[in-house]
Order: sequence, then structure tokens, then C-alpha cells
Amino acid sequence: MINRVILIAGLVVCAGFGSAVAHASPAAAVGEAKPNPDTKQERVVRYRAKNGDVFYGILIDRHIRQLTNSFAEIARGRRDFSGAGHALDKVKLLAPVKPSKIICFGWTFPSHAREVGGEERRKEPLVFLKPPTVIIADKDTIILPQKLSSQVEFEGELAAVIGKRLRNAAPEQVMEGIFGFTCMNDVTARDLTKKDPSYARGKGFDTFGPLGPWIVTQIDPGDLRIQTFLNGEIQQNARVSDMTFKIPFLISYISQVMTLLPGDVIAFGTPGGSGKLKPGDKIQVKIEKIGLLTNFVK
Ligand code: MG
Repeated sequence: MINRVILIAGLVVCAGFGSAVAHASPAAAVGEAKPNPDTKQERVVRYRAKNGDVFYGILIDRHIRQLTNSFAEIARGRRDFSGAGHALDKVKLLAPVKPSKIICFGWTFPSHAREVGGEERRKEPLVFLKPPTVIIADKDTIILPQKLSSQVEFEGELAAVIGKRLRNAAPEQVMEGIFGFTCMNDVTARDLTKKDPSYARGKGFDTFGPLGPWIVTQIDPGDLRIQTFLNGEIQQNARVSDMTFKIPFLISYISQVMTLLPGDVIAFGTPGGSGKLKPGDKIQVKIEKIGLLTNFVK
């Protein structure tokens, strides 16, 4: 009987994904995605409780079970529950990790490379860094640097969070080093990335890295749908399988250059349809089976 109930619940969740894609609405069910009962999949949140203390927790439905562990401990498999819990809407969600670095791949989707005048089918990945100070959380505000840029654009992206140190890892080894996946907005001052050979200015302003709302573990990233909504209107809509390079290859590639540490974030590039942000906008990145990352613009 219990198995039947779980099976029926699973079917309802799947039906929710289908209708969410068909109606292309940011408010549809993907943001409520439930863990797959057939795996040990978890949704890991970092949040500030009412008394100001910061914790990690495991999100089940709309309820957070508080952990006493650090990210490093959680990434090693520790789960020490304090016994406390919170309703999701009663806490302030924080970005789910504090990485030592954010590695970004560019022009991985031919549709985006085309629209910004890049190479549609690169032989080698294009890679750049964003400083950790770009990171903001779900529901936080992107600040437009209006004196320095007149063309700030959104880029909805899938991001991996590293769980175990990776160095010179082969593609078939990297997935065991991944803790999970989340949504990112690689906010970009396009007028500056066009001027500078380094993307340090155009990609590096404070608040240019919305990340979250949480990390989903034990998820196959290979064909997830990425959608971006500007003021509720769909702007980007593609699948990870549309990328020129596969995710394990990209992680292996960068691990030949720099050591990937627990908590580091890797963003895999944006599909076609990126566009300009203006004060007052609401921008949302939605990734199938992960969630909905909502930010405001000032
Ligand atoms: Mg990007």
C-alpha cells in the first residue's frame, strides 16, 4: 500500500513537470520539485533563522530540518539534525555555498554564442572566473552599476557545487566529486565584456551572481531544461543536452588547470535569449527538477 502511495505521488510530480514546460510559467510546479523517492536525493538549503543564526538544513516539502553541520561535513555525508525545524517561508534563504571560486564556461550553447558574436562550435571550452563577492541569494537584488555600464544582461545557467577535492580528474571520475546542482544567473555587463579581453569587469560586479535557491543532490544534469523569465515572460528555454560540451568533460577540463575545492561553483553557460535588465525588473531562472531562483533589479 505504502509503495502504491509513493508511486502515485511520483506520477503526480512527473505530471507537474510536464505541464510546467508546456505552459512555460515561472510559478508552475518545478520550483516545488520533490526529491525522487527512488534515490537519496536531497534539497540542501542554507538559511538565516529568526534569531540571526545561520544553518544548513534539509528541505522536505516546504519544511526545513535544521542541521548542525558545516558544508564540508555535509559534503562528506554527515547529517546531524538539531531537532529544530522551520517553515520555508519563515526563514531568509542564503546562497547555498560560499565558494573559493566560481568557474564559468562561455559559448557552450551555440544559440547564445551566435547572438553575442561568439564562436558557435568551439573546439576547446571558453572559461573565465567570477569573484565570490558576486554571489547573492534567492529573492536578493541585483544592483545595476549604472555609471559604468549601460547594458547589463541576465544569463540563466545550471551550476554544479563541488563536494570533494578534484584535481586532474578524468570525465568518468568527476561526478563522484559533485555534491549537487543549483541555478545561477551569470549576470553580465555586455558592453564591458565586449571591450575587455578579460571578463573581470563585465562579469565581476557585486551582486552579479545570484545562486540558489538550494542544492539538489543525486540528480542527473545531462538533459535538464533551463528557462529564464523576465517579469514573467519566457526569454530562454533550452536543454542541457543542447550544449556543445558534456558536463563531465567540462569539469575534467578545468580540473587539469586548477584544484576544485568543496563548495566551489561551476556554471555551464547560457542558452540563446539573454537580454537587458532595467531597474524594477524581476528575473527568474528555473531549472527542471531543481527549482526557481528569483531576483529583483535596482
Ligand atoms: Mg554565462
